[in-house]
Order: sequence, then C-alpha cells, then structure tokens
Amino acid sequence: MEKPKIAVVPLIDKARQSYWMLPGYMKAVEAAGGIPFMLPLTSDESDIARMSCMFDGFLFTGGQDINPGLYGERAEEVCGEVCHERDAMESALFKRVLELDKPVFGICRGLQMINVLLGGTLYQDIPTQFVSSVKIGHSQSPPYSKPVHDVRIEKDSLLQRIIGKEVYKVNSYHHQGIKRLAEPLVAAAEAEDGLIEAVIMPDKKFVLAVQWHPEFNYAEDEGSFRLFEAFIRSCGQQ
Ligand code: MN
Repeated sequence: MEKPKIAVVPLIDKARQSYWMLPGYMKAVEAAGGIPFMLPLTSDESDIARMSCMFDGFLFTGGQDINPGLYGERAEEVCGEVCHERDAMESALFKRVLELDKPVFGICRGLQMINVLLGGTLYQDIPTQFVSSVKIGHSQSPPYSKPVHDVRIEKDSLLQRIIGKEVYKVNSYHHQGIKRLAEPLVAAAEAEDGLIEAVIMPDKKFVLAVQWHPEFNYAEDEGSFRLFEAFIRSCGQQ
C-alpha cells in the first residue's frame, strides 16, 4: 500500500517574514508511516478545494492565537499575536476537509481552531481568565518534550484506545484553551483543573485534536507516537 500523503498547515513567523516548519511535525508523520507536505499559505477557495482532494489527511499545527472575532469576542489586552492569513486558510480548509470526511489531527492551535470553527469559544488567556480551585501551569519552559501535567482520558473513548491509559502525563505550551466546547465535539481528556485537553468529533471518521504537543516527544513518548500512528493509519484506510 502506498504511504498516505499528509498535508501540514504552514507556520508563519511574522517578525522574520517567513513561512517555516518545526521538524517534529514532519518527522513524526514520517515515523508513523506517512509522507508530510507543508501546504502553501493561501486563502484561494478553489486551490483549497483542490488541496483537500489531493491529500489523505490534514495536520492542523500550533501557532498564533486565533482572532477572537471568529468567536464573537473583541481581542483583550491579554490576547497574543493573531494571524489572519492562517485563520482564513484554516477556516476554508477545515470546512472542505470535513465535507470530504478526511482524517484531521489538530495540535494546540489546531484544537482551538477546530473548536472555534464548529461554534465554540476560547479563553483568550488562561492565567487571567480561567478560574479553577486547582492551579496547574499550562505554559512550561524548555525542554518542551518533558511532560508536566496529567490529563484524565475519557473511558472507552477513541483517545483511550489509542493511548491505552486513563491518566497520562503531557507537555503543555499554551496560554489559551477551550471555554465553551463546540456542540459537534466531545471532550476526550481533561487536565486536573478541568480544562479540556483533547476533543473528538464522533460523527466523523477521524477528527481528533489535543491541546498538548506530541510533535515534541513522539520519539520517546509512546502515547505521542501512538497519536500520530493512529492518525496515519486512519489516513490509509480510505
Ligand atoms: Mn495544558
């Protein structure tokens, strides 16, 4: 069987005026049996429609904050840099990919974007807006491969079948998070403070997203590798 072709949403560094990619996203896809392709940054609808047909699976990567306008809020002072080009591209691409029911794996911003595009909202800044009696840190310092907080994985969920654990330790490098979960999604994992850390779209073949960063430790963390493996496997079953 041919290896699945995986489209990877590009990263943008505005200060350096560059498109770029973290090796982990590409290498993890390769290690799990796929061929990764970084997409061009475009909001051309017909190009996006074409790309949604060309690839077997779609990796929605981490990156800038999502424009709060997309979920009906004004950007607060605490909201970080946004990227309108990525917002536009990902909105169009996700819609097309969903129509085709092709596999989607979202990481960090990817999870947040999927939630917003399906009607959910975000905390623009966890430390100042998310209230919980349990305090845990979601913005770790390097090395980012190091797991720093636990998540509890929903029993009998797709995520639990993939990871094989109920409590799993993850890395954490995010200052935004899901406030209101979009209706088509279900929470698949929660941190000890109650923040949603993974979601699944049950109506679809494979739409899974995590708030943590498996691309940083897929080489040494079994659970991280299995996430990529499950994604690539679903991309090969079409
Ligand atoms: Mn976290």
